[in-house]
Amino acid sequence: MATASFDTARRAASAVPPIEKTPDFRPEPVPGRPVSLVGLTRAALKEKLLALGVPERESRMRAGQIWHWINFRGITDFDAMTNVGKGLKAELARAYTLERPEVVSQQVSRDGTRKWLLRMAPTGRHDHNRGAEIECVYIPGPDRGTLCVSSQVGCTLTCSFCHTGTQRLVRNLEGPEIVAQLVAARDQLGDWPGQMPGKDASGEVGRLVTNIVFMGMGEPLYNLDNVLDALGVMSDPEGLGLSRRRITVSTSGVVPQISRLGAEGNAMLAISLHAVRDELRDTLVPLNRKYPIAELLRACRDYPGLSNARRITFEYVMLKGVNDSDADARELVRLLKGIPAKINLIPFNPWPGSAYECSDWERIERFSEIVFNAGYASPVRTPRGRDILAACGQLKSETEKLRARARMMLEEGMGAEGFYADADD
Ligand code: SAH
Ligand code: SF4
Repeated sequence: MATASFDTARRAASAVPPIEKTPDFRPEPVPGRPVSLVGLTRAALKEKLLALGVPERESRMRAGQIWHWINFRGITDFDAMTNVGKGLKAELARAYTLERPEVVSQQVSRDGTRKWLLRMAPTGRHDHNRGAEIECVYIPGPDRGTLCVSSQVGCTLTCSFCHTGTQRLVRNLEGPEIVAQLVAARDQLGDWPGQMPGKDASGEVGRLVTNIVFMGMGEPLYNLDNVLDALGVMSDPEGLGLSRRRITVSTSGVVPQISRLGAEGNAMLAISLHAVRDELRDTLVPLNRKYPIAELLRACRDYPGLSNARRITFEYVMLKGVNDSDADARELVRLLKGIPAKINLIPFNPWPGSAYECSDWERIERFSEIVFNAGYASPVRTPRGRDILAACGQLKSETEKLRARARMMLEEGMGAEGFYADADD
């Protein structure tokens, strides 16, 4: 009897995984290691100049000049700052660096997708002075190029279909570490003004990275202060210059932070919905137990600035026999009624040890048809870069053999436009 109730209790406990893990640490500066000026906000850059003894009345103008060199030109050497005096340049070079994250490796997919393993600057004892590693993916498309960035090292959340959620080491990325992913990508691609033949020197025309999605590792709304700082730097018209309408932040549904993202970040919003009933969503996205579907959709309805030209993207991963029935599709359409929305169906990307399978292609097509007939664009996210494991939820996973169907989908395309570049022009 005692054994039976123990077993029952144990089963019950294991059926309810924790919503989240505790992050391991916060990064801290390593004493004696010069800080990079790459990715800093304007205010932080000005502080760095004041710390060097630049007078307050001069600091704004100086910060503006240096900002231009770092964020518009993408220079890697203080010497290139031709309108900055010799003395100040020497001071800058003594106290700071223009260091980017180290590119540990690059993989290029047959479809042109590139995945970089980036090592951040060391953050002290917590990472044994080695620096955390994150992945960043560039997905070229016919009319745009999308960079998928990470907001955290790992993720504290525990979505059952996501490999990143199984990673133990978790910390927030600092704002500059988020921005530095874009800077490193531009370096790798030769995507600074004047670097590409035939490109407009103003940087307006012909940029390779035109869109950003926060769909790499981590939950951006658990690191909102740093994400907001990064949005500010990445979208500054006198610097990296990406319009906020071309930056999409994806969240698993951190309801209390959604309105702040809208009000202060003014970025496009994507919601990882994945299920239309709380009972199922509780198991796929355990955060749903805290913020159930109705509350999440209420926050979506209130998101500032929504219109048909500025819609919320709902991501829906297609899991065979789990969330992919006709009834699920019809309920999805019913739930989203009245919200300017687009729906992205994501073929599930398997990873070693994952408990799910991707829905069959015919099922995905049928699901997509129901959604489409209800008036929603329902592109199936083309699985990009599968041969280099750069697709969603595969970041940091071990190499594995592609299943035959995955390979077929990759080679033939999934029949619809790629998703990543989803923000409206
Ligand atoms: N944490 C945020 C953003 C990063 S995840 C979020 O959850 O929205 C980016 C997208 O990839 C999310 O929609 C996520 O649900 C999806 N995803 C995660 N693992 C996946 C997998 N194995 N196959 C397909 N999509 C996956
Ligand atoms: Fe974290 Fe998003 Fe993965 Fe969930 S799907 S574990 S929130 S990265």
